[in-house]
Amino acid sequence: MRGLMMDVPLNVSSILKHAARFDGGVEIVSRTVEGPIHRYTYREAAGRAAQLAHALRALGVEEGVRVATVAWNGYRHFECYYGIGGIGAVAHTINPRLHPNQIAYLINHADDRYVFVDLTFVPLLEALAPHLPRVRGYVIMTGEVTMPATSLPNALCYETLLAKEPATIAWPVLEENTACGLCYTSGTTGDPKGVLYSNRSQVLHAMSVCIAGATRRNESTGVMMPIVPMFHVNAWGYPFAAPLMGSKLVFGGPLHDPASLYEMIESEGVTTAAGVPVIWLGLLAYLEQTGKSLGSLRSMGVGGSAAPPSMIAAYERRGIEVIHGWGMTETSPVCTNGSVKAKHRSSDLTEQLKHQMKAGHLVFGVETKVVDEEGHVVPDDGRTQGELYVRGPWVASAYYNNAEATAGQFTDDGWFRTGDVVSIDDEGYITICDRAKDLIKSGGEWISSIDLENAAVAHPEVAEAAAIAIPHEKWAERPLLLVVRRPGSSLDRDAVIAFLDDKIAKWWMPDDVIFVDELPHTATGKVSKRTLRAQYAQPNGVAP
Ligand code: ADP
Repeated sequence: MRGLMMDVPLNVSSILKHAARFDGGVEIVSRTVEGPIHRYTYREAAGRAAQLAHALRALGVEEGVRVATVAWNGYRHFECYYGIGGIGAVAHTINPRLHPNQIAYLINHADDRYVFVDLTFVPLLEALAPHLPRVRGYVIMTGEVTMPATSLPNALCYETLLAKEPATIAWPVLEENTACGLCYTSGTTGDPKGVLYSNRSQVLHAMSVCIAGATRRNESTGVMMPIVPMFHVNAWGYPFAAPLMGSKLVFGGPLHDPASLYEMIESEGVTTAAGVPVIWLGLLAYLEQTGKSLGSLRSMGVGGSAAPPSMIAAYERRGIEVIHGWGMTETSPVCTNGSVKAKHRSSDLTEQLKHQMKAGHLVFGVETKVVDEEGHVVPDDGRTQGELYVRGPWVASAYYNNAEATAGQFTDDGWFRTGDVVSIDDEGYITICDRAKDLIKSGGEWISSIDLENAAVAHPEVAEAAAIAIPHEKWAERPLLLVVRRPGSSLDRDAVIAFLDDKIAKWWMPDDVIFVDELPHTATGKVSKRTLRAQYAQPNGVAP
């Protein structure tokens, strides 16, 4: 028997409509590329998203047409999320830190017809434009006064486009599986692959982000700041979750240095912010150097790569709940919630921290199984490891226009193979052992590069560390540790080895420790192990 309930399609436009009507006066605050701080309300944002939608239609952008954005976090980018997706077109968010050749590849692969570009990236697009034959025009995300002279063909001014259009719209009711967003994986493990989000997946994902927020120990979703860029996996759903809940949104624009982040968090009273570990490590060092504290921040989301336990503990000691989550571009991204479960909140902090060091507990909606090398599903015992498979309403079912990559990572019976080696305990907490490709296999046994790095970063003079496998005649592979010292430190190899001695198994001890000024990072802020392996893991061991 079919239920007799309404079959109302889930559309992203309904989120902004709701916020404009019932939280219309709540602010969105942005640091702009032009310099000044911009503030307006959800009501005004909805009006401008409507203007953008009309402008796009006037340019001939119909349902299904891909429109790229190359932009920082800010109010105009927010309008693009809704203005493009709301009319059934597809907002393709591009990571400007990728290699220019890759950016050209993405725009051509996605067949983007318009590119919306922040002032910062106009020179980048000018250089690429001759290689982008199918792009019809470039919309520069600024006003007339700051509109630059540019060689971009058919360059349009964002504000001029909007000014001509009415600020109201009857958003079309789209079939809920209509695509609205496109984001390519950053290519840490190969060529970028496109993930095509739907209206349905974005709305359900946003609702899940809200649940995760509401179950925090320091419930704190009043003022949300995604430090994670809007070009990276929907800024972890914040631009959809915040209006859904009526939370104020804060965008940091082009500045990501610790002092600027601190300033924005403090001046806008941010209660929860989200970013990758390297951002939070930088902010922590800044707080320690300056003796400053974060007054308003109640919780912080961290994910994208492993958050070092020493960092989690340091923020917790400052009274900030650390929400360590796991996700991927392919999973929208949120699959776990790092908040402390209600039943653990009466335990002391040391006990709670044991859970928070893990990469969160799985949220409802994401189904998982962990599969060992023989293809057997392993138990949720918190110890047995295997590759994580996931499925759910906000997990990709295929890569966009890439049958070869799809065949490699999606199974015939409907699972996505993540390539991460994990264990899951009986409460759904997940421990990320490593990416399968980054594990170090020594004498037939696995060494987790993440565990080694976490142990090293716990040293007060270590700013960042990376462990990679180097070939070894007898053991097949052995670990090599690369370390970035904190400013002013003269830490040496022996001191690092001595520090690790009682923290890891004997056979995990790195064969060597190499000090470097900095580690190479991917466009999404992860240490690029691929680059390190190419540089250091020569066939006969360490490169000179
Ligand atoms: P890319 O695959 O291009 O690097 P993603 O942002 O999709 O870009 O990366 C997802 C990967 O990041 C996961 O497969 C996992 O290896 C890693 N990751 C994400 N969150 C965590 C976490 N909390 N701890 C450890 N690794 C993580």
